[in-house]
Amino acid sequence: MKDLPVEKVYLANLPTKIQKLINTSLKCGTDIFIKRDDQTGTELSGNKIRKLEYAIAEAKKNNCTTLITCGGIQSNHCRATAAAAVKQGMDCILVLAADEKVPPNGNLLMDYLFGADVRFVSSEEYANRNAIMQNICEELSAQRKKGYIIPMGASNGIGTFGYYNAMDEIIEQEKQLGITFDSIVCTVGSGGTYAGLCLSNKENGYGKKIIGISISESADFFVNQVIEISKEFYCYFGRNDALTADDICIIEGYAGKGYALSSPHELEFIKNFARQEAIILDPVYTGKAMYGLSREIAKGTHFNEEENILFIHTGGLFGLFPKSGEFAQILPFSS
Ligand SMILES: *Cc1c(COP(=O)(O)O)cnc(C)c1O
Repeated sequence: MKDLPVEKVYLANLPTKIQKLINTSLKCGTDIFIKRDDQTGTELSGNKIRKLEYAIAEAKKNNCTTLITCGGIQSNHCRATAAAAVKQGMDCILVLAADEKVPPNGNLLMDYLFGADVRFVSSEEYANRNAIMQNICEELSAQRKKGYIIPMGASNGIGTFGYYNAMDEIIEQEKQLGITFDSIVCTVGSGGTYAGLCLSNKENGYGKKIIGISISESADFFVNQVIEISKEFYCYFGRNDALTADDICIIEGYAGKGYALSSPHELEFIKNFARQEAIILDPVYTGKAMYGLSREIAKGTHFNEEENILFIHTGGLFGLFPKSGEFAQILPFSS
């Protein structure tokens, strides 16, 4: 399945580096490596740009003028979409969920800088985000423009090609580095990153353990989500196929207080990790997932001491800054 039935635009800085987490490996007693997908770009930083490369190519092929997508106020995906739209000479409309007035910082500040048309809806309205985006599309047709809707996190069939493709990048890097990764671990927020890795592993017979760590919903929820995404993915090949639950390994229990809410031990973990590796994890995704990975290694259920683990750093740095006040308890400043 090497020849892909889809095209991409080239936006991300690829390949991203793989580094060993020297001090963390010593501490955990297992070799852990990190793939720096937080370095896919500065403005484009994070995992979403890999998915957007395929989604935007599809939008352009369909002569669309305007990218429409949605997310939380600190959505990394929305910020990357807004930046990518500028690069492609397209317009961008963002539907963001916010129940109160929000300060324009972090990713949201960047959305405005990139000139995105930011539209807030309540979390109640956000439940109907797909209908809202559809309405925006109709509004655009009346202006002789054409919208292209990207669902939350670009976690649909086309977006999945981003990490389907990233898997080949990893296999190539294994050869260069002379290392074989037994497990590849990523954060699961809407499932598209995991689905892409898992589909490539299966289709290309790479034989790795692909492990996702949920930062929000239950494992069952995401298993179903990934199966649905895989169906859409196979449609691009004209195949009526899907991943099964046996192909998928998602670990739950690390959502903490819930999506985008931080617990003191998570902030403490981010602080310690920064001092251990000089790498910043974000509070919403990678901080929770890396915390989860370290706990799971200690438990020994999914990992053993001999193996090489590759964790994908999916980005999210800008989401850290709006949370600076929460760090006042563990850092020498007051909020
Ligand atoms: C969106 C996001 C994720 C989750 O990826 P999904 O493909 O949505 O599961 C992980 N980390 C960061 C920083 C993200 O922005």
